[in-house]
Amino acid sequence: MNIESPEALARQMPKVLLHEHLDGGLRVATLFELLAGRGLHSPAPDVASLAAWFSARALAHSLEQYLQGFGLTVAAMATPAALERVAFEAAVDALADGAVLAEFRIAPLLFEPHGVPAEAAVEAMLAGLARSALPSGLILCGMRHQFGGEVERTADLALRYAGQGVVGFDLAGPEAGFPPARHAATLARVRNAGLPMTLHAGEADVAERVLEAA
Ligand SMILES: [Zn+2]
Repeated sequence: MNIESPEALARQMPKVLLHEHLDGGLRVATLFELLAGRGLHSPAPDVASLAAWFSARALAHSLEQYLQGFGLTVAAMATPAALERVAFEAAVDALADGAVLAEFRIAPLLFEPHGVPAEAAVEAMLAGLARSALPSGLILCGMRHQFGGEVERTADLALRYAGQGVVGFDLAGPEAGFPPARHAATLARVRNAGLPMTLHAGEADVAERVLEAA
């Protein structure tokens, strides 16, 4: 094993990737290409400055500002081919970083306003992950601030594709004012069906939310 530098050592160590949002976590170069290919406006004129644009939002200490970047990435990724590519590249990159197992996550209903049915989004993501050599699973995220049946539909999808590559259900999105208890019936249904869950908690609301999620 090469131990010339801590980074080289870290890259070579076997790792398990547990928390990667693909709807906001694609390669910047791919995002730039997808934006251009779809005729969408990029907030920056080149790949390097687009990366800087995202870093500025990530360091703004605001979950809401951080989530703004998702609007851009979701629009860029909103074709089955792009979703498949993003999933595949994420798995390839994780493998290159030394991952031996990975769980990626995505909110499939985010793509419906752009014309991609949630089922097609899930199937494209699963196809992309399956094309990689990395053992992996997909977690489906319900957006906790939506109360029009979207979280329930996401749970339905997670249960439908469980065993076909979907390994869990998650609640994501802006947290303050949207405690998990507001989706208690859906969460109970997922739990009773035996599908594992990961609920975002305590990032943008009080610490008690972590206890509530547990
Ligand atoms: Zn997360």
